[in-house]
Amino acid sequence: MKKKEVNSSRMPVYRDAGFELYDASITESAFRKESEHGREPGYYIYSRYRNPTVESAENEISRLEGSKWALLTQSGMSAIDTATSLFHAGTKTGPWLFFSEIYGGTISFIESVLRLRRGIDVQYFTAENESYNPDEFEKVLSRLKPAFVYIETISNPMLVVADVREITRRAGKYGSKVIVDNTFASPWLYKPLEEGADIVIHSATKYLSGHGNLTAGVICGNDGDLMKSAIEYRKFVGHMLSPDDAYRLQTHIQTFELRFSRQCGNASRLAEYLDKKPVIRKVWFPGLKSHTTSVIAERLFRGKGYGAMITFDFDGKSREEKRERRDKFISLVSEKIKLIPTLGDPRTILMPVEAVWGTKYPEPGMIRLSVGFEEYDELEAVVSKALESI
Ligand code: PLP
Repeated sequence: MKKKEVNSSRMPVYRDAGFELYDASITESAFRKESEHGREPGYYIYSRYRNPTVESAENEISRLEGSKWALLTQSGMSAIDTATSLFHAGTKTGPWLFFSEIYGGTISFIESVLRLRRGIDVQYFTAENESYNPDEFEKVLSRLKPAFVYIETISNPMLVVADVREITRRAGKYGSKVIVDNTFASPWLYKPLEEGADIVIHSATKYLSGHGNLTAGVICGNDGDLMKSAIEYRKFVGHMLSPDDAYRLQTHIQTFELRFSRQCGNASRLAEYLDKKPVIRKVWFPGLKSHTTSVIAERLFRGKGYGAMITFDFDGKSREEKRERRDKFISLVSEKIKLIPTLGDPRTILMPVEAVWGTKYPEPGMIRLSVGFEEYDELEAVVSKALESI
């Protein structure tokens, strides 16, 4: 069947598992070229290697993150696996240094996969009083000289902002590379590669997609050798994103800046509102002066916003009273603010912190909000009505 050119203005979904290579000589040169692991092959061969729809979505993310390249994977976790694999060198591997305030799933990956299964020497740099001490960090760097340092720009759920600029500067002195999980800040607030980070990853499931209906991850960078290594790893391990998800992600990215800027605006207003409520003991939000890392947030994000996550804790005379208030709040807002274990959705959603983080944050009154881009007044009205009855 002869293919017809269609005058579409957007990249279609190419679902081919394998692409037509016409004859033996083209096949031979396509496979020879493939071994170079370039990002745009002369001929597409197989969708687990490279796919035009996926590549087109990657170009959109490169544009946002200001990176020379971006590679999509089927989840944020597979992006983390791909990023860390770049520094895996058999028995010569490590040590690798992870900051302590990072996503719980990443900690599980470190412990269960990197340490137990792969036997890698993994170390943590621990935040104290909800912030990182740069001088202590430098002491750890000079002792360990890690192959890389791994941080999150804004952590979960205490929203600790890491001073990526300073961390990168100090890591560079000891020859350590820097991997940044920029999921919570997103490229709209901050671009770590511009500050000297080597690799940026995202759970694209969150703000880049922003609709809570697909799972994806991305790894971005500027170094061509790291890119080739990441392409090779993604291909051999099979971490490639599906063309259908790439197509939807690319469509969602068109509204990313609009959505995220509004989410940040809503979060700033809601955090200030919650902070004034006597029934709430404490609000964690990097835009509030009371937050341990508000000065770093101001410097890094230049007052543009502070992310769209808020954590707060109900006051109470006892643990039971705090828990009761938390549960009453969750039930009172449940029509409009649902308990959904993700973040970055269009509408505001919540998570009870103790139920998820257990002994790490054992505060029974704590709730984490992922603020959406609904009309702010509507959001405040729902929250205020619930708080009045608590
Ligand atoms: N990084 C952060 C900061 C996250 O919050 C998550 C998931 O919640 C991940 C990575 C993992 O992403 P995914 O669930 O898309 O695999």
